[in-house]
This record gives sequence, C-alpha cells and structure tokens, in this order.
Amino acid sequence: MAKRLRWLPAAPPLTWWMAALKTMLATTAVRGWLAAGFLAAPAGALAASPVPAPAAVATPADRTYENGTIFTADNQHANASALAIRDGIIVYVGNASGLGPYVGPKTTRIDLAGRFVMPGLVDGHLHPLSAGQSLLMCNLNYAALTVARLQQGVQDCLDRTAAREPDGWLEVVNWFQESMQPAGVRTSRATLDALHTKRPVIVRSSFGHTVLANSRALALAGIVKGSPDPTGGKIWRDADGTPSGLLEDAAFAVFDTLIPQPSAQDDVKAASAALAALRQQGVTSFLDAVGMPQDLAAFSALRKAGQLTARAHFAPPIEPSEAATLDAAIARVLALRAKFDDGALTVAPGITVRNAKLFLDGVISAPAMTGAVIDPYRRNSGTPTDPHWVEGTSHGPEVYFPPQALETALVALGRAGIDPHLHADGDAAVRAGLDAVAALRRSVPGVDIRPAIAHDEIVARSDYPRFAALGVIPVLSLQWGKPAGDTLGLTDYFGPERMRILEPAGFLDAAGARIAFGSDWPVDALNEWFAFKVGVTRTNAPDVAPQYRGRLGDDPGLTRDKVLRAATINAAYELHEDRETGSLEVGKFADLIVLDRDPLTVAADDIAATRVLETVVGGSVVYSASAPEAH
Ligand SMILES: [Zn+2]
Repeated sequence: MAKRLRWLPAAPPLTWWMAALKTMLATTAVRGWLAAGFLAAPAGALAASPVPAPAAVATPADRTYENGTIFTADNQHANASALAIRDGIIVYVGNASGLGPYVGPKTTRIDLAGRFVMPGLVDGHLHPLSAGQSLLMCNLNYAALTVARLQQGVQDCLDRTAAREPDGWLEVVNWFQESMQPAGVRTSRATLDALHTKRPVIVRSSFGHTVLANSRALALAGIVKGSPDPTGGKIWRDADGTPSGLLEDAAFAVFDTLIPQPSAQDDVKAASAALAALRQQGVTSFLDAVGMPQDLAAFSALRKAGQLTARAHFAPPIEPSEAATLDAAIARVLALRAKFDDGALTVAPGITVRNAKLFLDGVISAPAMTGAVIDPYRRNSGTPTDPHWVEGTSHGPEVYFPPQALETALVALGRAGIDPHLHADGDAAVRAGLDAVAALRRSVPGVDIRPAIAHDEIVARSDYPRFAALGVIPVLSLQWGKPAGDTLGLTDYFGPERMRILEPAGFLDAAGARIAFGSDWPVDALNEWFAFKVGVTRTNAPDVAPQYRGRLGDDPGLTRDKVLRAATINAAYELHEDRETGSLEVGKFADLIVLDRDPLTVAADDIAATRVLETVVGGSVVYSASAPEAH
C-alpha cells in the first residue's frame, strides 16, 4: 500500500548538492539512452504511452505518485495517474499498473488520493527582486484608493518611520494608479505636499511606469520648470510648465541615484522573500524581465547557499539611451552572462543569462498613455465634468528605439545567441517589434533564437498571424483580460472598436501564436491562479463592483488546457528549457506541483482559489502546505 499523502515540511534544498554529481551522471545517462533509442525523444516526439526504460527498471525510484490525475502537458495531450522520479529525473509516467518495477524498499510512495498533478509553473515575465523588496516596504497593496486614503496610507508609513525626519526618503510601492476613486481623479505633488512631513516622498505605481513625487523630492532631483523630458520618459506639467509631480519612465530614473539603494544583504533578503512566495504559488522557473546586476548577484548568492528553489533566468535591460552604443550594451549583457550563467541546465536549479530586455514603449493605461499606438488616442474636447471625446492626434511616444536601431540590436543579439525580450504595450510598439524580428529572421536565419514580445495589450488584427509566422512568443499577463479600472479606464481614449480587441489572448491563439504566461509580478499581486481563471473566463472576480462585471471585449479567451500550457511548456519554450522542463515526460527534470483541485474540471471561477499543496523542483520538495490526511 502506498502511504497516504502527508504534506510534510519541505526537504532541505541541500539534498540537491548531495545529488549534484549523480545528476550529471543521470542526465548524461538519459542522453545516452536517447541516443541508443531506448527511450522516445523528449519534447516534441514522445511516444503516446510512456515506455519504461529497461535500464530504469533495475533501479527503484526515489519517489512515486499514484492514484491522481496527472496533466502532463506533453504533445500527445496524454493524461496519466502515476509517475516516478529518480535522481531528480522523471523515469515513469503512466498508470499504476506500470509502476511496480519502480517501487523499491526505499521508495517514498505518495498516494495522491485523486489530487491533481501538473508541471511546475514557468512564469515567463516577472520582476522578482523588486517584488521581494515590495513585500518588505511601505506598500499600498494595489488597493483602489481615494485621494484621502492614498494620503492616509502614505502618512501611516511616514508616522511609522518618523525618526527619519526631516531628510530621509520615503519610497512607497504598489500604488494602483489606474484604479484611483472616483475614476479619473487626478493626483499631483500637492497630494503629497499636504502630508505632515518634510521628507522627500515618492510613490511608485504598481505598473512600474509612473512615479508621483512631492515638491521636496522634485527639488532634490532637480526636476524644475524648463527641465526637458528625457529620452524614454515624460515629465507631466501644470499649465504654467511647473512639473506636476507625475513622472513617467526615464523621467524618474534620477531617484535611483538619490535614494539610498538596498544593500547586497537587503537584496538577498528580498530575493529570498520572492522565492518563498513563488514556491507557494507553484512557480518552479521564471524570467526576471529586467535582470539588473543586483538581481543576478542576489539570486546567485542564494544559489551558492543551496537556497535557489526555482530555475532563474535573467534578461538584463538594454536602454533606449544605448541605441547609439549597442555594441557596448550587448557586451555588458554578455559580461553578465559570463559572470553569472551556470551553463547547461541541471536538476538543481541554476541561473541563465540568455535574454535581453528592450522597452519599446510605456503603458496604454489611462492617464499615463505612454503606449505607442497606431491610431491616435482620442481626447476630451470638453471638460472633466462635461466630457466630449473626439478624435485626437497623439499616438503616444515614439517607439523608444528607432526602427533601424531596433533592427540592429535584434540582429546583433541573435548573432550573440541572446533572446530579445521586448516590452510592447501599444499596437505601434508591437508592430515595431515584429518588424525588427522580421529583420532578425532575414539576417540571421536558422538560429534557435526565441524572441518574445511581452504584454501586447493591443495588437492590430493584421499583425496577429505574424507572431506564428515569425516565431515570436507573446508573453501575456492573462489577469489583465478582464473589466477593471485599468482596462475600462481606456474606453474614452480608445473608443469602442479598440476596446473590442484589448488583451487579445484568444485572438492570438486562434492565429496560431504560441502564448506564454508571465505574471509581471509585482505589477499585480502574485496570484497565478486568478490569472489563469481570467485567461479562461475573461471576467473579474464574481464579487467585483457592478461596473466591472461581464466579459472584456470580444476576445474568446483561452481553453483551460491552453492556459495551463501557456504557464508550463510554452513558457519553458520561451526560456529554452522545454527539453528539460515544462511537461511531465520521461527523461525530463521532475518539476511538478500537486493541487487541491482539478483546474480542468472545476467551475471556472474556482480556478482562482486553487491551492498548491506541494511544489517539487528537480525531484526535491521545496514547498509543502500542511493539509489534513485524507481518509
Ligand atoms: Zn514587466
């Protein structure tokens, strides 16, 4: 009898290091069997029913799972009920009848009691260090706030840290600017100047593209009447030209030089906090979509300490200001790769630097409107209280990289073996990205480069098929595809036609695109399972305010199977680890999660409430929820 599944505390990740040598051996052995034809080829050509390897039968597994529903995410859409792991590698997937040869006296046998198992989540775009820091900072928690409540939240933080008067900076995070109440209410430096403090204060929007600064902070930053907008940024101004306090993108970079930055030790704490949150959500691999040197240093320190509990990929940014010095920028990315990349993937999680991040625009959200769009934003020719929306002339900013520079950058990255990870929110930015990838494909044909365009909040219909044709992966934050302050706030600016095609996950899928999921945490709170629900239903939570009920636009959404694949095998493909992870197949690393429900069959809204019971990375249990034994 298999023992009933007990959710014991996680095994210490150090077991990986004891297994490290064995791992090398096992991986080599697996490749040897593949070459010898004993096993079907992985990822892409696995036989319909798993064939136990003759060599595997001789040695029992370390751990087996049986009596569950196993979603394999393989190409054959195979389902299974049993699985065996040895040395961190999956050695059997099938039904219980084939499990016998893998069970030995020392095998840990898990009776799933009907529970659901799937590949560990691969999050194709997030910001783990700032997310971890935000867990430890003055945090507005993405709440929909009135001006008074925003002020109260910041004042509370000031009061808690009153010893830092009069000069200590206060940095506030996770301000959900787009959901300020009532809708359309404006904030400015005066909002913060009204607080009881002399300190410089900045409030960062959760979207990461806007900062609200008080007058003291603006003065210390030298942002004054007459300061020009920097490349890739914008200073909002009053009618007389005085900076209003709202700053977009590059316009607030100056604060990084003024606010004391976290120490390396603080960064390690933040990275550790992020990993803990990720384990609990079932994330076993991720891409740090702005992989700064300090991000790499922090996660690298955790890897060396045996505490890296997810496969960590990094995309160092190449800034628009570097468009004229691309060689140096790419050399900088390659130097980070040389310093931090752990090379070929191993059973124990490691670090790769094989992506580079390029911002092509800001965000389409009102009131920022820094997304680059093909048809102009509409504008209000009336007054705030008596609006009259008419055709406008603004297309948002120019795409942050001029076309020729973007082409040159992508071609050079392709030659260097670095995947471009492009931020493109508006349809003009998306098109610029696709055009540049077309140039990359022409100039560097036949190479295994996997360009990704993250966000894609609005895409011209005629561009949908280009994702598949050019092999571009849309990396989508599926939770955005619902009626909410940030989406419906665009209605007036976009007009009805564009509102129909906002957040086009289903449309891109129908056009053959290989969609990968990326949570963009901490742009939103980390809640992968809510995102998957929205990916299916295109609706907000059932108990949401009346104005946010119903579906968003005409997009049909994704099937549950497609959503789970977006967050497993497709994101693994994006990160070049689909031969090792992303599906549960013999020969792959044992990265898997056990859930408290079956997201393929529960009521769609209930997908959001999914609880991860166990997270396994490379065969080691890194997270285990305490749950009563099933009887
Ligand atoms: Zn992001």
